[in-house]
Formats: sequence, C-alpha cells, structure tokens
Amino acid sequence: MNLNTLHVIDHPLVQHKLALMRDRATSVQSFRQLLNELAMLMAYEVTRDLPTHEVEVRTPLESTRARQLAGKKLVFASILRAGTGLLDGFLSVVPCARVGHIGLYRDPATLRAVEYYFKMPEDLAERDVIVVDPMLATGNSAIAAIERLRTRSPRSIKFVCLVACPEGVEALQAAHPGVPIYTAAVDRQLNDHGYILPGLGDAGDRIFGTGAT
Ligand code: URA
Repeated sequence: MNLNTLHVIDHPLVQHKLALMRDRATSVQSFRQLLNELAMLMAYEVTRDLPTHEVEVRTPLESTRARQLAGKKLVFASILRAGTGLLDGFLSVVPCARVGHIGLYRDPATLRAVEYYFKMPEDLAERDVIVVDPMLATGNSAIAAIERLRTRSPRSIKFVCLVACPEGVEALQAAHPGVPIYTAAVDRQLNDHGYILPGLGDAGDRIFGTGAT
C-alpha cells in the first residue's frame, strides 16, 4: 500500500461513529443517521485542500479581506447504490456541489463491475470530482468508475470510502496511482465473497434496510 496517497481519517468522532455502524445491532435508522454524520466529517477532511481566494467583505463595523472558495467546481460522484448514502452528508457541507451518478453492479460470479448508468455534469474538464462509495472491497467498482470518469477528463479525482481493505487499496492504487484515497479504516482482509472483514456487512443493505432481518 502506498501511504502517500492513502489518507486514514482517524479523528475520534469518525472512529466512534464507525464503531457504532459496525455493530450488527445498530438499526437501519441509526445506521443512516451515523452515515450522514460521518459523511459530513469526512467531507470536511477531504475538502481541506480546496483553493480559496481573498474577497472584500463589509462587516457591520468595517471592511475587511476574507477568504472564500475559489469557484464552485466540485462534483460528488456517487457509485450506486450505496454511495448515495454519503451524498446528503457531503452536500450539507458543500451545498453548491454538483452530483453525478455511476451505476455499477458486481457480477456475483466474477465480482467484476458492470456499468448500467452514468450521468455527470457536462463540463467535467473544469471540475474536481470526489467519488464516494462506503466500501472499498475488491476495488473493481472504484477502478471501473474512475476509468469511466477519466474518459471525460475531470480536473482531478479523489476517492472516499468509510471502510477499505488492503486488497482494495492495492488494486485501486495499481490501476489509478495518482488518485488519493480517503477512508476511516483499512480493515484486515477481503473474504471469498468479496466482503470486508471485519467490515460492517453489506453497506447498501444496511442503509436501505434490504438485508435479511
Ligand atoms: N460491499 C459492502 O457493502 N460490504 C463489503 O464488505 C464489501 C463490499
């Protein structure tokens, strides 16, 4: 694993919320709420290097120089369906961002990503894209999503997940070495079914309540 492009967000609030999300006893409602809060915290970290410029502001007392974001050029690209769970939290921190969707499903036999939907803002060449998906497991979906995004030449690409595993990080870094990865945890390993151990289970099922009860 290349630690130069891997950012593990070990803020105590992030780790606390992730621990609650891992718990199998956490309800769908609480899982969603925690995901929302975690997404906000992660968005804060991931946008740390956004460029700013100085503007003139008149406070009630006097004029001053203050810093604002330079342009409104962010796109949050959600990998369906679980990536959707991160969008609200990201958008509450950056409400002016555009949103793209990439529909990929995992072929259960090969675990490879198959695209069924792709919708992005037109002007990607002028935008910085943050791809969101809660789990970086085999890496196949992230790799395919970023490959597809690259055909539209965005200005930059970052990848954000909650839980990664060494196999997924290595695969993504091998395929797209320049793409920074932000995660709250790098877990022990991938199992034979493409799930992360210890992980938190199927993120989509836990967000949408579609798993076995
Ligand atoms: N997708 C999930 O939702 N969970 C995993 O553990 C791996 C992939």
